[in-house]
Amino acid sequence: MSQLPLRAQLASALGRTAATLSRATGRGDGSVIGGRLGLMLEPDLLRKLAADRKLALVSATNGKTTTTRLITSALQELGDVATNAFGANMPAGHVSALSSAKAAPYAVLEVDEKYLPEVLDTTNAGIVCLMNLSRDQMDRAAEIWLLAQKWRRALDGKPAHVIANCDDPLVTWGASTAARVTWVAAGQRWREDSWCCPECGGPLDRGGSMAAGQGAAAGTDSSWACRECTFHRPEPNWVLDGNDVIDPRGHRWPLDLQLPGQANRSNAAIALATAEAFGLEPARALPRLRTVTSVAGRYTTVERDGRSLRLLLAKNPAGWLEAFDVADPALPIILSVNAQGPDGRDTSWLWDVDYRILGGRPVYVAGERRLDLALRLDVARVPFQLCDSFDQAVSVLAPGRIDVIANYTAFQQIRAEFGRAV
Ligand SMILES: [Zn+2]
Repeated sequence: MSQLPLRAQLASALGRTAATLSRATGRGDGSVIGGRLGLMLEPDLLRKLAADRKLALVSATNGKTTTTRLITSALQELGDVATNAFGANMPAGHVSALSSAKAAPYAVLEVDEKYLPEVLDTTNAGIVCLMNLSRDQMDRAAEIWLLAQKWRRALDGKPAHVIANCDDPLVTWGASTAARVTWVAAGQRWREDSWCCPECGGPLDRGGSMAAGQGAAAGTDSSWACRECTFHRPEPNWVLDGNDVIDPRGHRWPLDLQLPGQANRSNAAIALATAEAFGLEPARALPRLRTVTSVAGRYTTVERDGRSLRLLLAKNPAGWLEAFDVADPALPIILSVNAQGPDGRDTSWLWDVDYRILGGRPVYVAGERRLDLALRLDVARVPFQLCDSFDQAVSVLAPGRIDVIANYTAFQQIRAEFGRAV
């Protein structure tokens, strides 16, 4: 890599010092404050730090942290990789990630969906991965359509190679102005936000079962087409079929990941296609994907008094469906919901989720907004036990394995109490 100009070097070094101080004083992992300071001193810092690297941006409503981690693991086969491992996915976090690995020839950055146009403009990333778009807490269909439209404008006229999930109509529409797209049939579990054609507003005909939002596995008929215009699902280059990924040459690769669930197989399919865009074939990328066991504490199992608690994050309706897919129907389950800033203060989005799948297993409800969730479960006729706290829920359960589904700050509280296993 070429040397950074002096001002950028200083800004980057000061940002790192601030990050170290922030960590030392217990104010988080420091990546955001360090990056923010760096950007104040040198507004052009992100562009300078990104120059001369092979860079991939990863964006979606769900799965971007995990997919970023999977792609990073794969690319480590080629050399050093800079990445924002702790999900600080706005420009200050990107500055911090790139500053802390200056010599790395590769970089993989998770990017907040709303910041993708700005970060793409600034970094001129060569590769962009787009996986899914659905409502996040109080976002509604019109807002995510506007987001997809911003992606279209940002990609139009840029040389970036886009890796996109063609099973998601809105992502397909958002990606289709790009100069070059590799389409991955990576599945779509949450379909409630894509019954309308993003191009003309007409009805979308979907293949497979009409109730597919809950039960359909990837690999069933995922085709879709607008009834009123020509917009339809592009022919995929890569296909996720159950546990296998079929590459563009027709070779079938059994994934055999350690990460659980269909959503992670979908993330892995995107990661394999992205690795190949970097020149890394599946035979070399896949063994690296299989080494990933937990991402930022998700899927981690923590122990207390003979109880093994597996932590699943569900921060929006699509995330709940993914967590239900991973949760073991034979085990008791604790649900914990908060409504602090990062969770969205309004919990009405809980009504978008169909909880009936939990019927028949022991359900325990905790978290600051446990009454909101309790009402929702009551209306769905799912029996549950209301607990004053997460600790109480754990203590009333018998020793053994327990699944935990929590939204963002509830999840962080549990991790803080049980230690930050990563
Ligand atoms: Zn249409």
